[in-house]
Amino acid sequence: MFTDTHCHLADLAFRLPEILTQAHDAGVSGFVVPATQPNDWQAVLSMNSVTGVRAVAVGLHPWFAENQGDFLADLATILVENPRVWVGEIGLDALIQIPKEIQLSIFERQILLAKQFNRPIIIHNVRSTALIVNTIKQLKFECGGIVHAFSGSIEEANILIKLGFKIGLGSLLLNPNAKKAHRAAIELPLEHVLLETDSPYMQPNHTNTPANVAKIAQIVAKSRQISLMDLAMQLEQNLLELLID
Ligand SMILES: [Zn+2]
Repeated sequence: MFTDTHCHLADLAFRLPEILTQAHDAGVSGFVVPATQPNDWQAVLSMNSVTGVRAVAVGLHPWFAENQGDFLADLATILVENPRVWVGEIGLDALIQIPKEIQLSIFERQILLAKQFNRPIIIHNVRSTALIVNTIKQLKFECGGIVHAFSGSIEEANILIKLGFKIGLGSLLLNPNAKKAHRAAIELPLEHVLLETDSPYMQPNHTNTPANVAKIAQIVAKSRQISLMDLAMQLEQNLLELLID
């Protein structure tokens, strides 16, 4: 019924059967699984055979942007061999020590690969919206994707939507004090929204699981005064726009 459009199932592999059953019982039966670094690419690719996995993404997250050698060649090979694999998660993070120039160069090169192979991307954005928007525009990237764990303003979201991106709303909504996220859940155009957990992260002690998408969906449905069924149908429609058939 619902899809968790950002869950690190490969990091949960040791208790996957339990986690999938729990998600299924909560009405969460779809999953989009991103990678973060070359070390986890094969594990993420293997998630393709897990029931309910709608897409997997392979890429280099800005947190791991240093000392990765010639990762681009391997990424290109994976994209050639797997025509439905997305690129992600990639992006920019203003709160980490890795210099912006290094992050940007790695982000740009991965966008160009995604463009070359016509794949959506999953973006990690921490206080970097303007630079991300500029980069996407400059490189004329038009394959869209998801800006995950969105925490910016409605104005920023609308710029990203215009560039072909869906806005991933997620675990921030489980915190009643996350005002911006709650405002986004009410005000963003519903046809450009997706729900996600970023599990196992974003909750204390890595306890987050995809089943929490059911809670997030309840919060969104309630704040928008729509039924869970209508919400599920719209979200599915949104995801289908991105999936490669
Ligand atoms: Zn993530």
